[in-house]
Amino acid sequence: MNADPLKQYLKSEGATLVGVGDVTEALSKEIIHLNRGIAIALNRNLNRETIRLLARLQGLSVAWLSARGYRNLSIPPDSDRQKDKLITRLYKLFCHKTAATCSGLGWVGKNGLLINRQYGSRLSWATVLTNAPLDADEPVRESECGDCVLCVMHCPSGAVKGDHWSISNPRRKLVAYDKCAALKSRRQTLDGKPNCGFCVTVCPYSRNGKREKAGK
Ligand code: SF4
Ligand code: SF4
Repeated sequence: MNADPLKQYLKSEGATLVGVGDVTEALSKEIIHLNRGIAIALNRNLNRETIRLLARLQGLSVAWLSARGYRNLSIPPDSDRQKDKLITRLYKLFCHKTAATCSGLGWVGKNGLLINRQYGSRLSWATVLTNAPLDADEPVRESECGDCVLCVMHCPSGAVKGDHWSISNPRRKLVAYDKCAALKSRRQTLDGKPNCGFCVTVCPYSRNGKREKAGK
């Protein structure tokens, strides 16, 4: 089933990137029938307005697919932050990075964040899982960080280990999140928000978009 009409529709409604991945390998038995992941990205920081826009795009996807008789499950952009909700449990079964890598929109960088060639990690993501037999994009199988170690060098807590992600080992722990969380709690901003993010600001992909091949 050609996915282009859905992708073009979502982009005409404001999506920055849309991809479709075959996510079969990443699904637990509860949701194994929903083996296509539609990855939707906006080139914006994740805040309340971004969440609203992503949720709208998910709603449009679901309506488009439902009108054609398919089943769907939306994984909200902030489902990892929602407490005491059913979707929080579902998020543990599936995360946005999986749909993004399976649909060829990026890889998981040494900093543990989804890195897109054009936008780096300055994207916010939402996912719709579906049983529609959409044509899947070619996945990204290996990290494209190459020999860059900027996020390793500049992480003030030593949390970024410097390992490479690959699709064959997607759960490899690239970042010691306990060290990261401890540092961010010590460096809270005046309004109480965690304060760091050097691993984003130093990343050449996030600063400049596509990196020069010579640096890889
Ligand atoms: S947010 Fe800061 S402490 Fe955490 S991994 Fe990134 S650079 Fe390191
Ligand atoms: S700073 Fe370098 S190593 Fe770290 S995520 Fe970006 S490209 Fe990869």
